[in-house]
Amino acid sequence: MKMKKFVSVLAATTVLTGALAACSSSPKNAEPEPTQSAEAPDQGNANENPYLASEKPLKLTVHMGTKDSGVFNNDWPIFKKAAELTNVTLEGTLPVTVSDFSETFSIVIASGSLPDIMQALSKDFLQYGPEGAFLSLNDLIDEHAPHLKKFMEENPQVRSAASDNDGNMWFIPFIADGEAEKGWFIRKDWLETLGLEEPKTVDELYKVITAFVNDDPNGNGKKDEVGFFHRNTSIGIEGLMALWNAYPSFRAFDDQVIFGPLEPEYGDAMANMAKWYKEGLIDKEIFTRGGKARDILLADNLGSLTHDFFASTGNYNEQLQGKIEGFRFEPMLPPADVNGVVKEPSKRDRAKNYGWGISHSNPDPVATIKYFDFWFSEEGRRMANFGIEGDTYNMVDGKPIFTDMVLKSDKAPVDVIRETGAQSNFGFQQDYFYEEQWTLPLAMEGINQYKENDVFMDKYPVLKFTEEEQNELQKLSPKVDTYIVETRQQWILGAKPVDHAAFVKELEKLGARRLVEINQAAYDRYIAELNQ
Ligand code: CA
Repeated sequence: MKMKKFVSVLAATTVLTGALAACSSSPKNAEPEPTQSAEAPDQGNANENPYLASEKPLKLTVHMGTKDSGVFNNDWPIFKKAAELTNVTLEGTLPVTVSDFSETFSIVIASGSLPDIMQALSKDFLQYGPEGAFLSLNDLIDEHAPHLKKFMEENPQVRSAASDNDGNMWFIPFIADGEAEKGWFIRKDWLETLGLEEPKTVDELYKVITAFVNDDPNGNGKKDEVGFFHRNTSIGIEGLMALWNAYPSFRAFDDQVIFGPLEPEYGDAMANMAKWYKEGLIDKEIFTRGGKARDILLADNLGSLTHDFFASTGNYNEQLQGKIEGFRFEPMLPPADVNGVVKEPSKRDRAKNYGWGISHSNPDPVATIKYFDFWFSEEGRRMANFGIEGDTYNMVDGKPIFTDMVLKSDKAPVDVIRETGAQSNFGFQQDYFYEEQWTLPLAMEGINQYKENDVFMDKYPVLKFTEEEQNELQKLSPKVDTYIVETRQQWILGAKPVDHAAFVKELEKLGARRLVEINQAAYDRYIAELNQ
């Protein structure tokens, strides 16, 4: 076994087993620390203030910042309010000018001198936690964090995503809410213009797009309508695959892992997609048009349908109202696949791939886990989602309703909320009600329709691999993935006839079966962990 970087640091402070009292000599906190095994030392105070995390005012440094929500700001109101309630004040260590967060993380880790709390990616926690950079949270949660304990018991997938193969939990993830991610949107006004019904099956979809691109629904006398389009040049085309029951990557059915490209359905999907492309039912520029595809094709009154995020795709109706007569680009349920199954393979990941954890040198891990726990209380969760009561939201009939300051701002609502520190990417549980309040009714209807019809497929879980497995994956995966992406593009563009048997042979040569084996082993461990 190779020497781990942080073991020497830890050995010096004898913190290996979690006997963290040894850290109490920190100048920030002259009082003796309660040890992890101390029994509810703040019982008396708990009656006055259930959120108190430390009896003495405690200042902890925090390394926190992401591209989405920016660098931690000491003046963020929700963290000031949390300090009043918990007696724990956070002090950011990153300068506001940081833009490359992974580089900054690497520098801090390499220095060995870590801020008390660190926000990082799950892969970083799972790598550097076992090496000694962070504290395992299992016992701390069990003994001092009732809200987190309850949450993790009720959400074993989240617990698993934050734990290594030995069951040690290294961080509290940011937990997203809401299943709905992507859905189908179609020009419903064009359906009416051409006297067509909303397509309910893959065959009906074929007929509808054929009519759209041939029968001039935009009425300009030109055959200029574009069929299925997408703004993502690499994965956009994958939105169609499920119609033929094919999948671009790994999936698990009845605990059996499959790799989509190796399955016979994949060949059928590709042959059909090549046919659709040839007949003009798929955007000729699907692999090149890129990020602005949706803006351009909709504003130019040319795009027929896409498969994309509900909230942002629903917005075009408002944007283009009055500009294109009768424009209605509206959500529809996925057309049933070739086997008659209505399903949506996309689904939001709950445990996002980042969160926050406790550094090995943290002066008061017990107070820190209690502070983390505050954000999982009702009050803490509300602040983390909605900001400050009376400012960004008011309670109306028991619900946090955003004020005009958020909903009628020139900025995006989420950016206004983030100015309070809310919805920044630390360890808390998102409440989808925050997003619902500015998602247009139309997109909300689509989301609800998908939910009511229970079309969301289970996501392929985030699996944990052993070091050897990881090395093998890193060796095999890039070649396999490149070959798949290149071949499917050649097939769809008609540069090469679809030959699935030869494709599978080549994939096997590149080690695709071994990838399945490795995934199956990791998946089996994952299931065993959930059932513990
Ligand atoms: Ca036309």
